[in-house]
Amino acid sequence: MNKFRLPFANGNHPRSAEEKSEIIERAALAYAAYMDALGFDWRSDPNSSETPMRVAKAFVNDLADGCYSVPPKITAFDNVDKYDGVVFQGNIKMHSFCSHHHLPFIGNAHVAYIPNGNIVGLSKIPRIVDVFARRLQVQERLTDEIKDCLQDTLNPIGVAVVIEAQHLCMQMRGVEKQHSSTTTSAFSGIFISDEKTRAEFMNLIK
Ligand code: ZN
Repeated sequence: MNKFRLPFANGNHPRSAEEKSEIIERAALAYAAYMDALGFDWRSDPNSSETPMRVAKAFVNDLADGCYSVPPKITAFDNVDKYDGVVFQGNIKMHSFCSHHHLPFIGNAHVAYIPNGNIVGLSKIPRIVDVFARRLQVQERLTDEIKDCLQDTLNPIGVAVVIEAQHLCMQMRGVEKQHSSTTTSAFSGIFISDEKTRAEFMNLIK
């Protein structure tokens, strides 16, 4: 699983409970310094006095938990029925953080594949979306990583992923009109080579 890009420059992938709590301690100290640098009198405000630790815990344990997790082990089942149609899961809720501003982007992922020799338990697809989404991300990379993960593990005839998301960094900063959304897509195999198959997928999304 090392081939997946991890957000640590040194290639380390800390995930033991002990490593995580060390990271939380360091991040809380750094966040306190950050609030100081911003000039906030946060220590005397009961709403803010615990904020550095709260932010660090929320980030490491929850919001960006995928930074500290490897993608779930996918149990591939034999495609005994030789099913060769599209397996589609739409409207998978996802939330992520943009690498550029550390603000959330929130939306839906639509994922499809056409099995070859293997199929996957359906609950695994949302989990794959989740582990890649809960990282510092750009939507384009997230879309590709979900596609590559399925392609590499199942070796299907093709994979299609579309993500539609609203970026708070755009909406809150007034860069774009509110409610505008960003759509990204990634395809492999037959979804690239066969226009009809791709059109079938795009129809399922509508
Ligand atoms: Zn951004």
